[in-house]
Amino acid sequence: MKRRKFVAGMTAAFGLAACGKETEPAKQEKIFKDKYSWNMVTSWPPNLPGLGTGANKLAEDVFKASDGRLSIKVFAGGELVPPLQVFDAVSQGTAQIGHDSSYYHRGKLPAAPYFTTVPFGMNVNETNAWLYFGGGIELWHELYEPFDLVPFPVGNTGVQMLGWFNKEISSIEDIKGLKIRMPGLGGEIMQRAGAVQVTMAGSEIFTSLQTGAIDAAEWVGPYNDVSLGLHKAAKYYYYPGFHEPGPNIECIINTEAWSSLPPDLQKILEIACQSSNLNMTSEYMWGNAVALEQLKKDPNIQLKQIPQAVFNELKKHSKNAIEDLVSGDRSSEKIQQSIESFMEKSSSNQEITELSYLDMRIRSEI
Ligand code: CA
Repeated sequence: MKRRKFVAGMTAAFGLAACGKETEPAKQEKIFKDKYSWNMVTSWPPNLPGLGTGANKLAEDVFKASDGRLSIKVFAGGELVPPLQVFDAVSQGTAQIGHDSSYYHRGKLPAAPYFTTVPFGMNVNETNAWLYFGGGIELWHELYEPFDLVPFPVGNTGVQMLGWFNKEISSIEDIKGLKIRMPGLGGEIMQRAGAVQVTMAGSEIFTSLQTGAIDAAEWVGPYNDVSLGLHKAAKYYYYPGFHEPGPNIECIINTEAWSSLPPDLQKILEIACQSSNLNMTSEYMWGNAVALEQLKKDPNIQLKQIPQAVFNELKKHSKNAIEDLVSGDRSSEKIQQSIESFMEKSSSNQEITELSYLDMRIRSEI
């Protein structure tokens, strides 16, 4: 049904182009009258703060900016397709647009996680710098092109928390045998360090942690973790999330649907995605600060930094995991090189700017 709509839209556009007698203003008028109704599938629980509400806002912005010419109906995970099948649904044209995380597609596309985040990788500012100025978006488009998908960044959670633990982590030995919910490469690294990686949807974490079915779990950060009630399921809240230092969220558009849009609607969509990136990233910066204040007042919670020695050990495992990834996949190798080359320059810059400033601001007692 929806597929027929694109075709109808495209036929209308071709019809105009073929009609040589039509005047330019008349053509423009007809193009501006074409309306497009799209479905957006997402991997998020309904109205999840940040990720879910970000999808809703993107759709509203596009509708208003296009004066109703492009309307997008948003579906939560499971409403139209299951949460982790957004990539396939948009690739096949079941839905025209999706809102998702690229690291969920790791099984079919090993390089995909680079466009969310990789362990010990870039923070939020570095991720955006690389995507918009370092050739990141171009590499991303190249990677998704065979799947008939056009991707754009639409938000970032900022550095995540390592997660909720039922026991203290004093040395790398404490990781051994730990049953932890941590998806993707982060989970693989924990597994290399001796943990047992458990995969489950966000909605199952609370019960699994509370009943002791798992010993630890990561989700996002204070803003989203409080909304799942995780602070009532475990005592130790560890930071920082080495596994997700600057997770970028993606908007993916079916290539045929994208091509059917006139240039102004394409531009509106692209700008709305950029606007969404700023909006969602700011929402997390704000929401996490507010939620953390609430958690710090709770006497039942211990906020703890992971020991440096444990962090170092995990970084060694991460280096090996990345080496294995790039040795078996040409796309991953190319993207890793691009990111590494930027991070070498950026690390020095971050050290004398953000890190130095924040360190001195926090330490000063005036
Ligand atoms: Ca996470």
